[in-house]
Amino acid sequence: MSQPKPMVAGNWKMNGLKASVSELSALSKMLETSAAASCDVLVCPPFTMLASFSDQADAEIFIGAQDCHSAASGAHTGDISAEMIADAGATHIIVGHSERRADHDETSTQVAQKAAAAHRAGLTAIVCVGETEQERDEGKTVSIVLSQLADSLPPSSTASNIVIAYEPVWAIGTGRTPTTQDVAEVHAALRSALIDRFSEAGSSIAILYGGSVKPSNAHELMAVDNVNGALVGGASLKATDFNGIIDAYRDA
Ligand code: PEP
Repeated sequence: MSQPKPMVAGNWKMNGLKASVSELSALSKMLETSAAASCDVLVCPPFTMLASFSDQADAEIFIGAQDCHSAASGAHTGDISAEMIADAGATHIIVGHSERRADHDETSTQVAQKAAAAHRAGLTAIVCVGETEQERDEGKTVSIVLSQLADSLPPSSTASNIVIAYEPVWAIGTGRTPTTQDVAEVHAALRSALIDRFSEAGSSIAILYGGSVKPSNAHELMAVDNVNGALVGGASLKATDFNGIIDAYRDA
């Protein structure tokens, strides 16, 4: 069975203006001049920059969005459809990020509808799951992430149109990370759920870790069993930091 192709994905959140395209150019240059990395590289800017980033990005960088509406078009003021995102040149959409689950009360059922919308538009859905600190303290981590996974994957999911991101909510933007043993436990549980659902093909789905990944901890986290890359917030905004994380997938 094929191994997952690792991915290092940057989530810019609500950061960046037109001029920030210079960070994308800087990243392109670094990818060009550094040793080849054995991972896909994805940058997810705000909607306003999707088209310009897609125009500017060379073949080595995929461009993605951070959310989408579940409908293809219609009376949904202020929303953006997966078809619009595809039309802007993007290839991936993050769905179910914990900030959307918390700030917009998104449920896993809605996340599944958004992932289905990404599939309808021919895009890959990066489906995020993760426990809060209270849930971890109560020993519920594995059951929470598995139930989020089960409820967030639509019937249109296949081993080639989804990526999973495990992001403990308490590790996002805090500088705190779980131990490598804790990460291994959750990723192993996610892997076996994916194999249950997709049979052998479940072994080829990338499971990213996200939450305070930076150049100084990327090698250690990316070496954990069943960790197939990173979803990176803060450290993706500067090309040098992001490239330092991609280093985890370059020969030493
Ligand atoms: C994220 O927003 O997905 C994230 C992991 O953020 P940070 O890397 O800043 O913790």
